[in-house]
Amino acid sequence: PNFPADRTVVLTGAASERGIGRSTADKLASLGWSVAIVDIDADAARTAASAIESARGIRAIGVGADVSDKASVDAAIGEIEATMPPIVGLVNLAGISSPTEFMSETVEAWDRVFAINMRGSFLVSQRVLGGMIDRKLGRIVSISSVSAQRGGGTYSKVAYSASKAAIIGFTRALAREMGEHNITVNAVAPGPIDTDIMGGTLTDERKSEMSADILMGRVGTRDDVAALISFLLSADAGYITAATYDINGGLQVS
Ligand code: NAD
Repeated sequence: PNFPADRTVVLTGAASERGIGRSTADKLASLGWSVAIVDIDADAARTAASAIESARGIRAIGVGADVSDKASVDAAIGEIEATMPPIVGLVNLAGISSPTEFMSETVEAWDRVFAINMRGSFLVSQRVLGGMIDRKLGRIVSISSVSAQRGGGTYSKVAYSASKAAIIGFTRALAREMGEHNITVNAVAPGPIDTDIMGGTLTDERKSEMSADILMGRVGTRDDVAALISFLLSADAGYITAATYDINGGLQVS
């Protein structure tokens, strides 16, 4: 199977320079996708898009938006639809983690984690799906976490773990509704990946402590995860849906 030569992938949360999304955007650009980066950090989104555009010779756009806010999402996707090739792919990466222990958790902090990690995936998916359904073609990948399966254990605690477990149910139920439209919906569940999301706590010492439990003996890289997401976005992956892929060096069995 082939995809249209002119097609766009939207990646939320892909502006952060050392993040999984940035690496995934670059990988997808190298595979011929036009790239739209949607991030709360508008300047970083534009900088990332222009770096990818000049490195890969494809079209890229960076748009500022808060994925937890419907009006903001509608405006961002509207701008992308008006200026870029049709949206065939969506990667829901925008997320925050939270190291707050349960007995110190507040309603505000709890809701914020869910608003970004879960409501954001709902809002952006719903907004892009209209066009995908019309064109009868789409690929959606959302980012869960090994924390959803093991109950944290790396950095983040209950709110994050619960929000990332919600992504798995979201993925399966949405896949059920979208199969008839030739749209696949999947999740990936990374183990600890060396990015900035852990707020500078992922020191070399912490990495080697974590590595003791990982069969492959190391924490993951953003490129490890980018490769998996890119495959799930590909034309070849059209028979994979409602799946959640572990990518954690074997941590799920240790
Ligand atoms: P990161 O902090 O580098 O990237 C997160 C991005 O989301 C940032 O660019 C940030 O600006 C953006 N963002 C935050 N709030 C937003 C909002 N309201 N609207 C739009 N954008 C917003 O982190 P990362 O490690 O690359 O994380 C990417 C995804 O992978 C997250 O969903 C994260 O939970 C998940 N994940 C990460 C790990 C890990 O160990 N790094 C493991 C499992 C899952």
